[in-house]
Amino acid sequence: MKVLKFGGTSVGNSDCINSVINIISDYLQKREQIIVVCSAMAGITDELINAARRAAQGDALYKKSFLKIKEKHLSTLSDLIKKSKLNKPRKVVEEKLNELLQILESIHLLKELTPRTLDRVMSFGEYLSCYIISQTLISRKIDCDLLDARNIIKTDEQFGNAKVDFEKTNQLIKEYFSNNKKLQIVTGFIASTNNGETTTLGRGGSDYTASIIGAALDVDEIEIWTDVNGIMTADPRKVQSAFPLKAVTYEEAMEMSHFGAKVIYSPTMLPALQKNIKIRIRNTFNPSFRGTLILPREPNIKFNMKGISSIDNVHMLQVEGSGLIGIEGISARIFNALAKEKVKVLLITQGSSGHTICFAVFPSDSLKAKRAIENELKLEILEKQLKRVEIIEDLSMLAVVGEDLLNTPGVPGMVLSALGQNGINTIAIAQGSSQLNLTIVIKKEELKKALNVLHDALFVT
Ligand code: ADP
Ligand code: ASP
Ligand code: MG
Repeated sequence: MKVLKFGGTSVGNSDCINSVINIISDYLQKREQIIVVCSAMAGITDELINAARRAAQGDALYKKSFLKIKEKHLSTLSDLIKKSKLNKPRKVVEEKLNELLQILESIHLLKELTPRTLDRVMSFGEYLSCYIISQTLISRKIDCDLLDARNIIKTDEQFGNAKVDFEKTNQLIKEYFSNNKKLQIVTGFIASTNNGETTTLGRGGSDYTASIIGAALDVDEIEIWTDVNGIMTADPRKVQSAFPLKAVTYEEAMEMSHFGAKVIYSPTMLPALQKNIKIRIRNTFNPSFRGTLILPREPNIKFNMKGISSIDNVHMLQVEGSGLIGIEGISARIFNALAKEKVKVLLITQGSSGHTICFAVFPSDSLKAKRAIENELKLEILEKQLKRVEIIEDLSMLAVVGEDLLNTPGVPGMVLSALGQNGINTIAIAQGSSQLNLTIVIKKEELKKALNVLHDALFVT
């Protein structure tokens, strides 16, 4: 048995959905057992967020976003299903859209948008795309059910990025699939709390849904179908010479996606890794291509450099002062203060003199981080042992990823000299303790050049 997951661009319009249906039909013809997970149509999750945020600001333009969403689903549905069979599914889609409109109207009225309500709003994307796909399959005589993942994936109440309760979830999945043998079209990304409230698994989370289901059922392989030929040596949108990799380890895939490679959502690797299930990344628009296999590291296979990924926007915070050396437990205090505020720290460096500690965060976290540290260290700042925390903006972060990277002689030197020879200044450097990555912070305006220069130096020569 396999789980096949189709991403937003793979179900982005009726032509794409026809390609997806061809892939599904091929598997069924070969009598392979499959479970299908789908994302919302491309751009829909963003548009739903737009609509909700506009409504919360009291901006009547939320209706424009809503109409865009409505138009896209209704026109896709009527492109896919013959007129004679369109009545019932059209009615269901219209009813769902009305429910969405009512929620948006309440947000507009109250001028309030909680993470809980935003999850509810976002869930319409996956529900509608999966409904349309399942109805299209049925209209073409491929029997299937629409499975709302809220019924099988249970999480905590961390709306927007909920944590899965694997004990309950695995049991529900096993129970459901042992009682339902038809082809299931499962909504990616969405889940629910014990009280039945909608949650989501984090942006890009449909990949994770596929892996959660695959691991619970011990499937043979999880296939992530997307719009590129696999995991590539760099983001093909930024580096033209990027090429697809045959295989990477779970850890490498996690590291690349953690540092910005959107092609697979980082948590996806964990359930698969625990059950040793291979993940394959494949291209919906080039289905005969082998794609990239994500697999455990085998002792005799030599893995080396795999790729370069980047996070386009980061801020650095600098804590500086002569007092840094003398204050006991200062790092622990700083990072505890950040953890309390749920700030995600992307990179840490400490000057060898001990006078500065720098770290990188997402721009949306930087003010919160500055306040948290200044509050924690207010006495030391008052006594001038430390300066106020400085935020450095307009930066990007790139990571060179590969197993045993740092044991490979010359790699860090090659990276730094390639950047230096091309006049690119490195603002901070850190080596991952896992030996898997070398991370560098540079000015944002130099990112594209840096990615290309490094890619040529490491992969093309
Ligand atoms: P889906 O809609 O199928 O989930 P995503 O847009 O989430 O697809 O991910 C696919 C995109 O990831 C590609 O179009 C590509 O631009 C981007 N990407 C970034 N880094 C990489 C990489 N190293 N290899 C492949 N794709 C990458
Ligand atoms: N639709 C969701 C998102 O855009 C989940 C996904 O595409 O994987 O983040
Ligand atoms: Mg994705």
